[in-house]
Amino acid sequence: MTTRRDFLRATAGAGAALGMVPVKGLEGFPAVRLQRVTPVAVASGNGLAAVSRTIEVVQQGGDTLDAAIQGVNIVERDPDDTSVGYGGLPNLDGVVQLDSSVMHGPTRGAGAVASLEGVKTPSLVARDVMRYTNHVLLVGPGAKEFARSMGYPIENLLTEESRRRWVEWRARLSDRDDYLTPEQSIHGATGFRSEASYGDALLDSHDGVRPQGTINCNVVNADGDLSGVTTTSGLAWKIPGRVGDSPIVGAGLYVDNDVGAAGSTGRGESVIKTVGGHTVVEMMRGGMSPTDACLEALKRIVTFTVEPYLLDEEGRPNFGVNYYAINKKGEFGGAAIFAGARFAVSVDGDTRLEDSAYLFERD
Ligand code: ASP
Repeated sequence: MTTRRDFLRATAGAGAALGMVPVKGLEGFPAVRLQRVTPVAVASGNGLAAVSRTIEVVQQGGDTLDAAIQGVNIVERDPDDTSVGYGGLPNLDGVVQLDSSVMHGPTRGAGAVASLEGVKTPSLVARDVMRYTNHVLLVGPGAKEFARSMGYPIENLLTEESRRRWVEWRARLSDRDDYLTPEQSIHGATGFRSEASYGDALLDSHDGVRPQGTINCNVVNADGDLSGVTTTSGLAWKIPGRVGDSPIVGAGLYVDNDVGAAGSTGRGESVIKTVGGHTVVEMMRGGMSPTDACLEALKRIVTFTVEPYLLDEEGRPNFGVNYYAINKKGEFGGAAIFAGARFAVSVDGDTRLEDSAYLFERD
């Protein structure tokens, strides 16, 4: 009979073949570790401040997951980012419902919340699910009650801006209902957003019509330990209760401390169907670079997209998906279905946006 210890020893042996050495003193965990790595954090294009903070915390010796969460907390608390946390665009009923997942490489931990209402920082609640419960995912009212029990204030997450955008969207939904659009209203309606709220580019991940957006942030420290977090308000105007890829471990986020970390932004349903984050990590396990692994996982999305309403005239997906990845050696990359996307990276004291690799040129 193979014991857990035998199994882990054998796995560590395979790691050694890849240039990794088993870690002494971590009996409980099947850790393999490279000698020294240059710490790197990557994130979606809205994550410049996040990667910078993440690396700062890691350089000060902080834990990789705490670092990534401190990074994304900046965006979650930012009322001007309407795709994440406070100020996120609401669902069909005008209620902000947030999704988030976290994974901690060294302890093989995972936690997530979905359809969480009233808490600005769902990533922290996801970490508490991991730390304080025997579960991985809490949803809806249960997630909210859990957050309340852990001391989080329950607040109104709708800003004046996101509420106005929702009011205008509701008015434009149909010209056969009783809501007046800005053009129709002649009695001085000031409840609309001042500028047109349609088609304005929110993030590189949106599909040009429905505002979307998310932040994913992954990090590796000098010891080769990895963590990741994904957090979002999801698809704007979604059906109440709709859950995207962000809180689904293996879809919007995946971390294997022996291999790497990956996460996504963009059309969540397509990422869930192809188990995106996990697919990227498995491709890296097979030897692909982070960029190639991201591209390969995007090709799966193309293959899985057969619904006519999701295809353009050339048979390509008519939506965006982006992947971001780091491997245990500190190599990193990002890729998108269409050209023009960028991702944030912080490495060697430099924080910048880089062009994502892509499958298709835009017309
Ligand atoms: N992935 C997110 C979701 O589907 C949205 C986005 O990143 O644009 O909920």
